[in-house]
Amino acid sequence: MSVLIFIDIADGEAKKSSLEALSYGAKIAGQLGTTAEAVVLGDAGTDLAALGKYGAAKVHHVKNPSLDTFDAQVYTKTIAEVAQQTGATVIVLSNNLNGKAIAPRLSARLRAGLVSGAVALPDTANGFTVKKNVFSGKAFANIAVSTEIKIISLNPNAYPVTETGGTAEVVNAEVAVDAPRVKVTSITKASGEIPLTEAEIVVSAGRGLKGPENWGIVEDLAKALHAATACSRPVADAHWRPHNEHVGQTGFAIAPNLYIAIGISGAIQHLAGVNRSKVIVVINKDPEAPFFKAADYGIVGDAFEIVPRLTDAIKKIKGIA
Ligand SMILES: Cc1cc2nc3c(=O)[nH]c(=O)nc-3n(C[C@H](O)[C@H](O)[C@H](O)COP(=O)(O)OP(=O)(O)OC[C@H]3O[C@@H](n4cnc5c(N)ncnc54)[C@H](O)[C@@H]3O)c2cc1C
Repeated sequence: MSVLIFIDIADGEAKKSSLEALSYGAKIAGQLGTTAEAVVLGDAGTDLAALGKYGAAKVHHVKNPSLDTFDAQVYTKTIAEVAQQTGATVIVLSNNLNGKAIAPRLSARLRAGLVSGAVALPDTANGFTVKKNVFSGKAFANIAVSTEIKIISLNPNAYPVTETGGTAEVVNAEVAVDAPRVKVTSITKASGEIPLTEAEIVVSAGRGLKGPENWGIVEDLAKALHAATACSRPVADAHWRPHNEHVGQTGFAIAPNLYIAIGISGAIQHLAGVNRSKVIVVINKDPEAPFFKAADYGIVGDAFEIVPRLTDAIKKIKGIA
């Protein structure tokens, strides 16, 4: 019996959302009186022993060129093998894009109950019950899992990265890895410096900005705050901004610590993707804009006046020229 955590690596670094999953998995292992073990697939390019800092006692590293690019089916089968070899009874992964592709497949393969999008530690005092968001973050459900193996995908930003100290033992796991059925011929990276789904702060704008030529004020504010940029769907549909910035029901669901919405009305489909943000600031010239109901702070006014003033004030506080 152990808790196995899948660690997603990007550009030679464990993703922040995976370190959250690891910290969370280590805490569950403590609750269950067992150990937390991590699984890393493909070319890691990072110091895997350092995962011990976040609670991993052991890291199972499966090295194989077939794992160097993400393939949900190959990854699922490999993680399932490692889970069986290690006798894992709880498997944790982040509910990020890769996690969303792996978790249901893993659940079917291992005949394991899955709670996707968990937001809190499981209650293990009496059974195994996990709290998750439902109805696009409008309510919570407590799901009791009764299968022998339990899988939890943890919502990004729902549990803090926690350093507990220590160095992990790194072992090369011997697993027969399938060749991927999909061949990746090229990868084009999104242009933003900070990945949207990992960002602590997101500055987002909508149709109120009138046109793509006005995005400079949004980018300046994002730069001053070291934030990622996002947009509403009509903005992406009109090709004012790339689709990888579109948040909402049909775009990315994000949960940053701070979400600044500029010239966005706050339609329910937009809110579905951003209402898990810790603090929401809305800038809109219409005091009746629905977004104000979901906001922690609201500024009623013209974005073209307010945003540059806000950027200047932040630069002054941060001492940026
Ligand atoms: C099935 C379905 C799925 C959808 N999925 C998504 C989704 O994933 N994401 C999404 O965003 N939308 C989605 N939508 C669209 C959604 O319903 C809204 O139409 C959309 O979010 C509106 O975008 P907006 O707020 O940018 O534009 P608008 O609704 O046009 O709002 C513009 C806002 O800017 C304000 N404004 C104007 N000028 C200024 C100014 N100078 N300064 C300050 N404020 C100003 C206005 O007061 C207004 O509130 C979906 C719709 C459907 C039917």
